[in-house]
Amino acid sequence: MKSIRVFLIVATLATLVLVVFISTVQGYRASMVEAQRLFDGQLQEQAHFAASLRTDDLSHMDRDTHAAYQLWQRVPGGEPLLLAHTGNIPGVLLANLTPGFGYANFSGYRWRTYVYFPDHGNLIVVAAARDDIRFQLAESVITEAILPIALWLPLSGLLIWLIVGRGLKPLHALAQQLRGKASHDLSPIDLPRRPVELDQVVHSVNSLLSRLQGAFEREKRFAADAAHELRTPISVLKIQLHNLAQGHPEQSAQIDQLQHGVERMQHLVAQILDLHMLTPGQLSAGFVAVDLYLSAQQAIADGYSRFADKGQAVELTGGGDRAPAPTVAGDPFALDTLIRNLLTNAGKYSPRGACIHVDVSAGAETATLVVEDSGPGIPEGERERIFERFHRVGGDRHDSGESGCGLGLAIVRNIAELHHATIAVDRSPLGGARFALTFPLLREPDTP
Ligand code: ADP
Repeated sequence: MKSIRVFLIVATLATLVLVVFISTVQGYRASMVEAQRLFDGQLQEQAHFAASLRTDDLSHMDRDTHAAYQLWQRVPGGEPLLLAHTGNIPGVLLANLTPGFGYANFSGYRWRTYVYFPDHGNLIVVAAARDDIRFQLAESVITEAILPIALWLPLSGLLIWLIVGRGLKPLHALAQQLRGKASHDLSPIDLPRRPVELDQVVHSVNSLLSRLQGAFEREKRFAADAAHELRTPISVLKIQLHNLAQGHPEQSAQIDQLQHGVERMQHLVAQILDLHMLTPGQLSAGFVAVDLYLSAQQAIADGYSRFADKGQAVELTGGGDRAPAPTVAGDPFALDTLIRNLLTNAGKYSPRGACIHVDVSAGAETATLVVEDSGPGIPEGERERIFERFHRVGGDRHDSGESGCGLGLAIVRNIAELHHATIAVDRSPLGGARFALTFPLLREPDTP
């Protein structure tokens, strides 16, 4: 079934048409019987009237009239004698002259007949009316009564359409609420004034959402707890390795490799913790005004030695007398992490001597942070996937030979979502990757 609405309308209309059809047929039959009864009554009266006419009057009656009469005289012990008849009926005995109704065929038509024996005298009156005319008359009266019902059917269809649409409104509202939910929003559905039929659905969906929320919480807490617990042993391991390197200089190559592995593990643990702490829902209250330019400046200064080691030039633009200032409402730690992750990637994946450009600007409604580099860039088909957790271009080994765990951009996306920012990934005019993040600008009166 494609649409409940279409099904209900078709089913209701089909039932309506069937009911109207059956009652029309029955009504038609009953009306026909009633009409015949009325016409018979009329014929009876006409026979009574004819009995009072003079024979001359009867003979001169118009032959085109739809009523015909014969006047007979009873002859005791013999054949009745025809006294008079109208021009449209032959002067012969049409049937047995027994009182009551019957049918006869003459003058090319079928006639309804009525034989009347008046109480006084010895007359017999035969009155006849054309059956086809009676039938046409009855049919036209009945059709006129029934036709409007058929004409109302399209209007009924329209009304049913509107009523069904109204009845399905709560279902649309439910679908809209579910569709409008953000990917991380597992809060229960609130459908006030819902019909009882939807109670069960809403309860089931809400219980599913709450179980999902619980499962997500447990999963996040487990990863975060595990990462947290791993931090201390990793630090101890690092110190032990340092001491080991001091005591055994002849094994420095192997110890270096071990140290490198432990550093990767430390980075992974730190990123898992960041990912957990900076998930929408974890952070939201306590936003303050953050100047993106100042944050970028600080992040560049902090990472300067790493860029310098690779001979990379980092340029920051957008400063000076900026009006308006690129201030956003946000969490300073989260925004700092976002900028650092983008900068770290630009430095990490760009070769020695590459250029890195950071630009922070503000428009009428938005503040934009751009981080671009002259590195290898990101293939078009990968620009969506790089934000997935643990996804790295080229899998475990990146062309640059740089190690990583594929969480940095997932964290960036979480932080952007948290601040209602959008991310666009492009090829930079410098030749490498270009990440542009657009935040809603914090207006002066809103400043917390
Ligand atoms: P990680 O750097 O730990 O692998 P990220 O989530 O930070 O994880 O990045 C995901 C992938 O996106 C990286 O593995 C890399 O392939 C690609 N990437 C990110 N930034 C850049 C960049 N500036 N230049 C080229 N590739 C990049």
